[in-house]
Amino acid sequence: MKVRDFCCGIALFLAIAFTARLAAQNPPSWTAPFPPHHIAGNLYYVGSEDLASYLIVTPQGNILINSSFEENVPLIQKSVEQLGFHFSDTKILLISHAHNDHCAGAAMVKKLTGAKYMVMDADVPVIESGGKKDFHYGDHPDMRFPPTKVDRVLHDGDKVQLGDTVLTAHLTAGHTRGTTTWTFDETDSGLSGGAEGHRTLHVVIVGSPNVNPGYKLVDNTAYPQIATDYHSGFQVLKSLPCDIFLGAHGGYYGMKEKYLSWKMSSNAFAKLEPRFIDPEGYKSYIADREQAFEAELKRQESRK
Ligand SMILES: [Zn+2]
Repeated sequence: MKVRDFCCGIALFLAIAFTARLAAQNPPSWTAPFPPHHIAGNLYYVGSEDLASYLIVTPQGNILINSSFEENVPLIQKSVEQLGFHFSDTKILLISHAHNDHCAGAAMVKKLTGAKYMVMDADVPVIESGGKKDFHYGDHPDMRFPPTKVDRVLHDGDKVQLGDTVLTAHLTAGHTRGTTTWTFDETDSGLSGGAEGHRTLHVVIVGSPNVNPGYKLVDNTAYPQIATDYHSGFQVLKSLPCDIFLGAHGGYYGMKEKYLSWKMSSNAFAKLEPRFIDPEGYKSYIADREQAFEAELKRQESRK
């Protein structure tokens, strides 16, 4: 090989390696700090700009949903403390699903707080193998995370209770085998609706209804029932009553926009309205995701 060709080869190799590295990088919004904020009742947002983490505060200690990446844990801890709570009061750790952007920091959270980790049955092997048993990303070293012991195995419809707060775990699988959508009720006061000033708000934290790039919906030997699971998941999601629409990523429900529009509002009346009440937004998001799933399924079926 001539020197010039060799150099070109190196340059080309570096260019490809650099492009590949860039492609593997996560969006900056996944690790960018975001102001922690109150959502309703005893529920708070403590995640990054896009990776959602939620804190539920009770007199018996707190529940944290989604540890995100390990590097996000200090950010979550800071957010919890900024709101005036103690990270060490975290008694229960839950997740939306067993992908590293929602669960990689779980071992660290357990170590720092002693929280009990509760995970949907079908996601447990993935969590305890550090991602190796994921049906799609099992061979992707970039998607690995510290294997973490699960303290309580959950099943579809199980309740998780701390203090007066009771959460229900709904299996909405497909995205992972154990993708979990969390629901619970909040009673918020100070609303404009009703002289009594109280109203029950149904909270839904969507686990993920999304079909990732490369997912095989047809003839998937690693996960044969994937399409059936997505179908069942959409039936569940469409059946859930929702006032407060939340999700595993802030992007699902327009968290940033909703937060900023409320901050910008000079309308005192608007400030009384919980900014995240959005039943219509929930319905249209689920309908949009179902349509995207059906279109992808049709596309893959037509190529058989
Ligand atoms: Zn995911």
